[in-house]
Amino acid sequence: MRAMVLGAEGAPLRLEQLPTPTPDSQQVLIKITACAVCRTDLHVLDGDLTEPKLPLIPGHEIVGEVVAIGDEVPDALMGKLVGVPWLGETCGQCEFCLRGEENLCDSARFTGYTIDGGYAEYTVAHQHFVFEIFGDPLHAAPLLCAGLIGYRCLRMAGDAQALGIYGFGAAAHIISQVAISQGRRIHAFTRPGDTEAQQFALDLGATWAGNSGDTPPESLDAAIIFAPVGELVVDALKAVRKGGIVVCGGIHMSPIPEFAYELLWGERTICSVANLTRQDGDEFFALLDKHPVTTHIVRYPLEEANEALDDLRHGRLQGAAVLIP
Ligand SMILES: [Zn+2]
Ligand SMILES: [Zn+2]
Repeated sequence: MRAMVLGAEGAPLRLEQLPTPTPDSQQVLIKITACAVCRTDLHVLDGDLTEPKLPLIPGHEIVGEVVAIGDEVPDALMGKLVGVPWLGETCGQCEFCLRGEENLCDSARFTGYTIDGGYAEYTVAHQHFVFEIFGDPLHAAPLLCAGLIGYRCLRMAGDAQALGIYGFGAAAHIISQVAISQGRRIHAFTRPGDTEAQQFALDLGATWAGNSGDTPPESLDAAIIFAPVGELVVDALKAVRKGGIVVCGGIHMSPIPEFAYELLWGERTICSVANLTRQDGDEFFALLDKHPVTTHIVRYPLEEANEALDDLRHGRLQGAAVLIP
């Protein structure tokens, strides 16, 4: 099979011919239709996440068809369209797994990071860590991380009606649609001067869009930060009301600068969102039945993964990049 492979931290991905993987007894073999590109992939490539399997096939927003199954996998999965998320496997036994917090599992394995992912023609995945997908596979791919992590962030934001979103990329564009259809007001903050992203947010129904340092027209009940920029935590704290919450949705962030305690005072909260649970997936896909979203995708052939990553890094695309093998 063809695959785009990371050989070493910081190196561009290389196109390689590799043997098609064989599913073990608990796995399914998936013929990949689409794999979306996530900012986390950049953090893996750049070495911000320090424990990748190498060489590695990145990619954790995979949609494809089950074409072979292991001995212990029910026949019913054969031929199904499934999605593979970032959470690839958990131990089921550590204190976090037992507490229903498998996203925090001590020995979790992650798709496209500690196990091979979806920048390829085929991949294998554990039968219990795939979601059945309905609808167009290309548009569904970004739901597997941008959608799922976005959903977990939205849940952390509670019933916030005035909601700020810092960094208006793939996750923001999906979860804004959900939030707006629930009657919430979205305030979109982008890199200063990124009028294209601001217009994109307004076109999706955001109440207001502006630069990251700007003061929004109303104080926010909650803010979600998707951009990996520590300064935004301080900006967001300034924008939320007393009792408000700032949710950091990224897996990596530059250091948060020192700030005056008065910004946190008034029972404001800062928290992070780490990974996802399978229950998040079940809830999120059920929610999409009530509040359908349209993902905006930019298609790239698999071989152009480096170009897609570069466009994401430099903010040159609206919505989500999707690789097609
Ligand atoms: Zn565990
Ligand atoms: Zn991701």
